Amino acid sequence: MTNAIKRIDPRRPFIVTAAGLRRITLGETGGANTDEVQWSAHGAHGSATKPRRTISDPKQMMLVAAHTDRGALDDHACQAIAAAALLADAQTEVALLVFGELKDDTAALGVDKLIELPDYDRRTFAPESELRALQACAAALAPRHVLLPDNASGDGDLGRRYAASTGASVATHVVEIDAKQVGVYEQARRAFATRALPDVILLAPNAVEAKLPFIGAGERLAGDFIRPASELAQPYRDLGVEEINAAQVALEEADFIVSAGNGVSDVASFEQLASVFGAAIGASRVAVDNGHFTRDKQVGATGKTVEASVYIAFGISGAVQHLQGIKDCRHVIAVNLDGSAPIAKRANLTVVGDAQATIAALIEQVQTARGASRATSNETRADARERHPAGVAA
Ligand SMILES: Cc1cc2nc3c(=O)[nH]c(=O)nc-3n(C[C@H](O)[C@H](O)[C@H](O)COP(=O)(O)OP(=O)(O)OC[C@H]3O[C@@H](n4cnc5c(N)ncnc54)[C@H](O)[C@@H]3O)c2cc1C
Repeated sequence: MTNAIKRIDPRRPFIVTAAGLRRITLGETGGANTDEVQWSAHGAHGSATKPRRTISDPKQMMLVAAHTDRGALDDHACQAIAAAALLADAQTEVALLVFGELKDDTAALGVDKLIELPDYDRRTFAPESELRALQACAAALAPRHVLLPDNASGDGDLGRRYAASTGASVATHVVEIDAKQVGVYEQARRAFATRALPDVILLAPNAVEAKLPFIGAGERLAGDFIRPASELAQPYRDLGVEEINAAQVALEEADFIVSAGNGVSDVASFEQLASVFGAAIGASRVAVDNGHFTRDKQVGATGKTVEASVYIAFGISGAVQHLQGIKDCRHVIAVNLDGSAPIAKRANLTVVGDAQATIAALIEQVQTARGASRATSNETRADARERHPAGVAA
């Protein structure tokens, strides 16, 4: 048997897991999570087997606010919810205010009450009305603490604006949290400071493990105490988000990456697939060393670290140096002839098959689907022209 001493990644020093490696001290009154709930360490990742967090006679709230992106919350937002759920004691509920439509299973995230504002999302620039929505929500729920992921895509800014507007105490870029205090790095990480839990907590990424050993109630709360965005005058004119070609995006910032390894022999088809998908191109070191791709495309320990929502690895074995570069990717899909290649352990989905055949099939599928949707929209436009011959522009 191998010696199973766990190595702790120094960049993720504050992790809570169901198995007990945790650096968050749970709620002072025992926390619903330790004494009152019997959770099984096995099956802790399958919500079907998880118990519901016990809440008796709820008296308080923890409020988490976050933006969704295309109907989903990212890991960082899930970590903020997990922090709230782990700190909540048996009389505290966890409420989530989401800006944007949310399709995720909120109970599985540890949420007890969900307030969804589908008029917003991460692509909408509406800082004033978001602030007013958060203020209204906090006024209605009177939370003990408000938690947000400290990111640069809206939540970090919203948390700071909220704290400034209400005079609340705030800690930003929190890397450590327990039932009593938060910890942050100071002076360019040369010092570490702690303080009592403030009113507003902006969590750094990876301060908390998002997987919880319990689920929340997952109930919806009508947000009628929040005025709709359309009723609020905005001092800004939102010109929207300009979409650019994925090939122009730095690999570290790309949201969708197709990546080629030694198992990709038809590089031209692979590049065509990237183009029809609108995805950025990555590669393993072997594929770069072979001269198929330039060095700036290399993903891994000696290449780029990427954070895509979707990473498709064609013909990549999944050596540890490569996996290091994709550890923060959300959904990894592997296409490999060998179903037992190491990449399959990291992948959320593995297609056991030939890379070239899969690439050709995907190109065909995407082009067929695009052709069908173009035909449908042409038909719709022709119908509209028939109904309103003068009013429809060509
Ligand atoms: C110090 C150091 C740093 C390194 N840094 C990096 C790094 O930053 N990034 C990196 O990627 N590597 C790095 N490596 C190299 C790494 O160890 C691996 O050698 C490399 O990642 C392997 O690349 P690969 O998976 O493309 O090739 P291979 O290991 O050759 O694997 C090819 C895979 O493709 C599959 N396959 C073959 N034919 C097909 C087909 N027709 N269809 C589908 N699947 C097929 C095979 O089953 C296999 O799993 C580093 C190594 C060292 C020592």
